[in-house]
Amino acid sequence: MSLLKFKLSRSAAVLAQAVWANRHLWRLKWNPRWSLWVMLVALLLSMLSTLIWLAGRYEGSQIQTRLERDTAEVVDDILTGLRRNIQELEALQSSESHAELWRLQVNELLRQQREIIRVEWRDTSLGLIQAENTPFRPFVFNRVSRASSAHNTAQACATAVRLSAAAYSGSYFMPQKDGLGMELLDLCIPLIEEGQLTGYTVATYSLQEILTELVNKQLSRGQGLSFTESDGTRLAIAGTPTRGNRIYSAQQLLDLPGNTLILRMDSWRGTPDFFPNVLTALVSAMAIALVAVLLLLGRDMRRRLKAENDLAEALAFRKAMEDSLVTGLRARDLQGRITYVNPAFCEMVGVDAKELLNHSLPNPYWPPELAGAYEDRQAIRLASANLPRGGHESIFMRPDGTRFPVLIIEAPLINATGKHTGWMSAILDISEQRRVEEVSRTSQDRLQATARLAMVGEMASLLSHELNQPLAAISSYATGSLNLLGDARGTEATLGTDLRLAFKRISEQAERAGKVIKSVHDFVRRRDQVRERVSPRSLLDAIMPLVSLQARKLSVRLMIDIDPACHVVLCDRTMVEQVLLNMARNGMQAMQAESKKTHAHERVLTLRVKPAAASEANRWVEFSVIDQGVGISAEVAEKLFTPFFTTRAEGMGLGLSLCRTVIEQHGGYLGHEPAKPRGTIFKFTLPSGPIPGCPAPSITAFQTTPDASEFLT
Ligand code: ADP
Repeated sequence: MSLLKFKLSRSAAVLAQAVWANRHLWRLKWNPRWSLWVMLVALLLSMLSTLIWLAGRYEGSQIQTRLERDTAEVVDDILTGLRRNIQELEALQSSESHAELWRLQVNELLRQQREIIRVEWRDTSLGLIQAENTPFRPFVFNRVSRASSAHNTAQACATAVRLSAAAYSGSYFMPQKDGLGMELLDLCIPLIEEGQLTGYTVATYSLQEILTELVNKQLSRGQGLSFTESDGTRLAIAGTPTRGNRIYSAQQLLDLPGNTLILRMDSWRGTPDFFPNVLTALVSAMAIALVAVLLLLGRDMRRRLKAENDLAEALAFRKAMEDSLVTGLRARDLQGRITYVNPAFCEMVGVDAKELLNHSLPNPYWPPELAGAYEDRQAIRLASANLPRGGHESIFMRPDGTRFPVLIIEAPLINATGKHTGWMSAILDISEQRRVEEVSRTSQDRLQATARLAMVGEMASLLSHELNQPLAAISSYATGSLNLLGDARGTEATLGTDLRLAFKRISEQAERAGKVIKSVHDFVRRRDQVRERVSPRSLLDAIMPLVSLQARKLSVRLMIDIDPACHVVLCDRTMVEQVLLNMARNGMQAMQAESKKTHAHERVLTLRVKPAAASEANRWVEFSVIDQGVGISAEVAEKLFTPFFTTRAEGMGLGLSLCRTVIEQHGGYLGHEPAKPRGTIFKFTLPSGPIPGCPAPSITAFQTTPDASEFLT
């Protein structure tokens, strides 16, 4: 137990040291919940150690009690033995007169009772009559004579006479020959005959033999028995106690007439185990189990706390989410009563959540005139499980009576056990959406009207632009005809031929003007665009009369260069002719401006057709109009295709923008680049398809036709 105490106190000291060393950490980490746990664990530990200590003590006391009980039994055994011996010694009284008989009986007694060393028969004045010694040991009064202990015998006999019963002397030490000695005790029994003292029977006991012979062997096994004096001096010892860590002692008085001895019993026992007995072990195990359960509970509590925190966080997050939502949320039970609304919904309808929750129908945000219809609608909708997935539109009312449209998306509300408990709705205020739609519709209408106006304007501008050329040609031919008629030199025949030709041209140009009107009309309406397969040459041929007319007027030489690899193109013929015409006219005008500046006379306008460089399998044909004019400055290039941009006084600035639109409508590309050494190349591409027998390639120096030249004014 002391070892346990020592260990406990050492661990407590180590713990205290650790706590002191880490006091800063403790101060930092200390919190009330932990302190409770620490207290609980400390309490349990102290309870456990107290229990073990008490159990150890209890076991010790048990041993002590058992030892004391044993000692009492030993005393009892000794007293019983001594009493029996007295009886047997008293029985000798009858044979005292017969010395031989006495001797026989005494020897018999000495053989049976080994603790008696010697029996003497003494007369009334203590004179020795007869004596017998134990056969089990050598004569004990060899070294020191029996007379030396006569006073002890006398004392015992005096006491015996006084008591009229057997009495004992005080113990005395009798040295032996072997250098040892033994503690002896005399018993004196007065011999009384008819009331008269006739002598004494004196028996000498060996205290050690008393311990070995009179004590039950079961009791003395493994224990040390001894007679001691009151100061603790041992008089006789018997038995060697088994060695152990701890000695237990018990003392008992052996009260004899005339003498009192102290009997001491020593028992060596090992330190009680850490768990001294099954009960303690059981209780300790239960306490340990309790600690384990507490720890598990603690862990469980920590988990619960964490789950609670997580839940609280999730709830807070959900609440924050619901509060920040702009969509109104509404939950209804199976009877259609509102069970939940979010702040956005309350704000939307302008009614407090308290007023809305569990409100009986009709709801406060239903317009009164629609309340009946809404109730019917709700009953039908809630009765059927099939809700429109895209939601439905409705009208809600604010407390001030204003109505506003909403989009309601509803879904069944299923709880954790899978039970249908109501309906959840998301409500969107779609007033703004409606307003935007309205604005967009109005502006769409306005746009359409504007587009129609623009279309009329565009058509008018185009017509005026495109009709200029045929009309100018008609006018030229008409003037030429008039001149012919006024010229008297001409013969009938030549006059007729020339006039027919002029009228043919006039009719052609008039027809062309009609086609232009139709084409422009179609172009503006973006429909009935007729695509036909046309050879590039026929396109050039068609514009040649007009181009050459102007070329002659401006003294320009025309050059036509058609690559043999070219194929037919798929296009709106009239519109593409107009594009070519525009470009040729622009080129010639640019050259005219240039010649005014440089006074150069040789001016060539080249019309080139070849397969587009980048096209695969000749899918595109490239048309180029190359002039040697002023060229295009960067400034002009920027606005070249802007409608109504022109640098010429009589120009309209629509030509190039229209050209580009036409080409792009064909899927082609229109662009320009500077020509070397001067001038500009305008080029565009058109989709092509190969046809067998492509017209033969040619590079033609196209001079103004002789017939047309006649009509130049
Ligand atoms: P318009 O011919 O009525 O002026 P266009 O759209 O056909 O309208 O031409 C716009 C402008 O582009 C012209 O005013 C001219 O300045 C410039 N331009 C067109 N073609 C050429 C060219 N081949 N060389 C130089 N400038 C040109």
